Amino acid sequence: MRFGTMFSDIVSSLLRRPITELYPVERRATPDRLRGQLHWDWEACTGCSLCAKECPAQAVDLIVIDKKAKQFAMRYHTDRCIYCAQCVVNCRFGCLEMSSDEWELASANKDPFTVYYGDEANVEAALADRAD
Ligand code: SF4
Ligand code: SF4
Repeated sequence: MRFGTMFSDIVSSLLRRPITELYPVERRATPDRLRGQLHWDWEACTGCSLCAKECPAQAVDLIVIDKKAKQFAMRYHTDRCIYCAQCVVNCRFGCLEMSSDEWELASANKDPFTVYYGDEANVEAALADRAD
């Protein structure tokens, strides 16, 4: 490469805006169809357990507190989930959806990887059952 060409490449590189983005200082808007963290509408859930049975990664557990009274909690493992959305497709009652905003799920410790959903009393019952 001739010195003149190399020099002009260096100068143009110095004057050009960087192509890289300053993540996480700058964040791009995410597309609506991005599959981020799973969310569950426990009030609409019938407790059929299809989401848990069909999950290929065993990332969701439906915890039945009282089936007659429709008292359930859900345990979701963000670190096992492969974000396939199979559970969302399987749920005939529209209780599950994947957030397009919540996708930054990395953590230096494992606690945030297990998420409990449900009303407060049911989540407490599920946690108490786990502690037994
Ligand atoms: S598939 Fe839907 S209705 Fe059935 S247990 Fe899962 S969330 Fe509830
Ligand atoms: S998105 Fe896929 S891997 Fe994640 S909980 Fe649903 S079925 Fe399981």
